[in-house]
Amino acid sequence: MPQPREEAASALPGIPSRRPADAPAGLADRYGRRATDMRLSLTDKCNLRCTYCMPAEGLEWLAKQAVMSAGEIVRIVKVGVEQLGVRELRLTGGEPLVRHDLVDIIAALRANHPDLPISMTTNGVGLAKKAAALKDAGLTRINVSLDSLHEETFTKLTRRPFLNQVLAGVDAAWAAGLGPVKLNAVLMRGINDAESPQLLAWALERGYELRFIEQMPLDADHGWTRRNMITAAEIRGLLSRDYVLTPDSRARDGAPAERFDVRRRVAARADGVETADGPVLGTVGIIASVTEPFCADCRRTRITAEGKIMSCLFSREEFDLLGLLRAGAGDAELAQRWQDAMWIKPKAHGMDHVGLDAPDFVQPDRSMSAIGG
Ligand code: SAM
Ligand code: SF4
Repeated sequence: MPQPREEAASALPGIPSRRPADAPAGLADRYGRRATDMRLSLTDKCNLRCTYCMPAEGLEWLAKQAVMSAGEIVRIVKVGVEQLGVRELRLTGGEPLVRHDLVDIIAALRANHPDLPISMTTNGVGLAKKAAALKDAGLTRINVSLDSLHEETFTKLTRRPFLNQVLAGVDAAWAAGLGPVKLNAVLMRGINDAESPQLLAWALERGYELRFIEQMPLDADHGWTRRNMITAAEIRGLLSRDYVLTPDSRARDGAPAERFDVRRRVAARADGVETADGPVLGTVGIIASVTEPFCADCRRTRITAEGKIMSCLFSREEFDLLGLLRAGAGDAELAQRWQDAMWIKPKAHGMDHVGLDAPDFVQPDRSMSAIGG
């Protein structure tokens, strides 16, 4: 990885940037990376209470006026795309579907950016009713979080009895043309980890791409432990009882998920050599953010629901873009603050070095829902 470049003073008063004047264009950082993939949180609110994300009682929601309006979102995305080289947008939250103006936001983004891939991560509650409108407004694709197909387990994990709504939402998204539909699953030890092959079988049968995400220390309850999380190696082991996974030959291209072609495992032959002769049934992704981090090739820039720039899920520094916008800043000033914020993106999150007792790891104050995962 390249060495950090020398830092210079900011051109904007009051902004702690050390971005040199000759830094590369776009959202570059000191380590030679350039962010082109924007994750924008539409709200911090949510109608589920997933144990690995939110506390049972919820969080104190942001005041309405603190959250970016539709017009502010559209302006910020325009600056990202037209001035800073953003090539892909993912809408997230909190739960994006709880925003009443979601369809209008997507339509306005699409009108400005006819060719921009715009995807959305959702928990799927209420999606069945809105999938067609989202597609018509210009949404390109969807990711739905689905941790279990068993009602009891789903309710235990999300603290809400909405499994059927989510399943209906996934199918409606597919029917509306929001494919390829990707499913996100977080495995929790002793709760849904043993169900992982079944989840995969279900996704493969329907042509959905399932991705397992390692649980990260981003839960508001601070219950995450290195010892208890299910690692990517364990996930591969769990799936390998039924399936043979072969690394996908396509370039990863900055994608967080490592993808595998999936074949059904054929019983071991008498000579002890296993065969995997069946056809490829589909692919599965594993996002090993903790144990096999991909920070060196990270291309993400994040905007929270209240318009703060976060260069990394784990960065402890936030930069207020919305405040600057509301103070009347022009596009060039907004772009500069964004560049300043990204310049000091940390080299890596450091979670992979977290020891079992983790004396030196400080979990970020924000939960995943409050950042925008
Ligand atoms: N509410 C939407 C949803 O659940 O899909 C979008 C926001 S949610 C924060 C985005 C993704 O982050 C979900 O797929 C969720 O499973 C994942 N996530 C939340 N907390 C996590 C954690 N502690 N570790 C890993 N993934 C997490
Ligand atoms: Fe809500 Fe998504 Fe967090 Fe679950 S993971 S509590 S659905 S924001």
